[in-house]
Amino acid sequence: ASGRVRLISGNWKMNLNHLEAIALVQKLYHLLRPEDFRYAEVGIHPPFTALRSLQLTFEADRMPFTLGAQNCSDEAAGAYTGEVSAPMLAKLGVGYVIVGHSERRRLFHETSELVARKALAVQQAGMHPIVCIGESAQERAAGMTQEVLTAQLSPVLESYPVGAIDGVVIAYEPVWAIGAGEAADPDAVGEITRAIRAFVSERLGEAVGARIRIQYGGSVNVGNARAFMTLDDVDGLLVGGASLDPDAFALLIKSA
Ligand code: PEP
Repeated sequence: ASGRVRLISGNWKMNLNHLEAIALVQKLYHLLRPEDFRYAEVGIHPPFTALRSLQLTFEADRMPFTLGAQNCSDEAAGAYTGEVSAPMLAKLGVGYVIVGHSERRRLFHETSELVARKALAVQQAGMHPIVCIGESAQERAAGMTQEVLTAQLSPVLESYPVGAIDGVVIAYEPVWAIGAGEAADPDAVGEITRAIRAFVSERLGEAVGARIRIQYGGSVNVGNARAFMTLDDVDGLLVGGASLDPDAFALLIKSA
């Protein structure tokens, strides 16, 4: 009813070489039927080293997955040894780039300002950023969840071109639920995602708020996917661990 296209994204993190990646998507594809892709767009975010192989595999076998990346540079080109730019990803047929995953914020010291610049680089290259936001266990215990989320989101909302902002996907991922085996409570996620949408509406207007997509992420599995997907303000899922098992991920997509 919302008119927003649902998006289920598998974040493989630093797992699977390019040969294992091809084997996984082939298995996953054979477990899915065309109608499973009509319910939601399915994004696969492998490591950079598998992007070209998956691009060719999707093309060759006409697999309707969308290719995704897990990170990119905020710079378009130049002397940045070890970095991969957004235009390079776009050239590989990437549609979505995760920016600001909590692992990158925590382990690689990415600030919300850098994340906003990466989101902009993704947009300028013609792709969609999946902007991850989420509070830590301590921040949650201190009652700071809403403050943390708005502080993480504000630099994106302030710098992103207004006309393109509904191309942004916000992934609400409570840090304490990522890889924890236990997801957040769906009622609490319902409340928080409603507040995130209200914040976007307050900053950028009701129309933008109504169109922007919000995913939930954090220990999503076959058993709980549906409970999150039926929430009014949740338009998709960002799935880590369960996306590495083709049987589990296929069932998750079907159950959602
Ligand atoms: C993630 O990596 O974004 C994630 C949510 O991981 P998991 O599903 O394993 O908790």
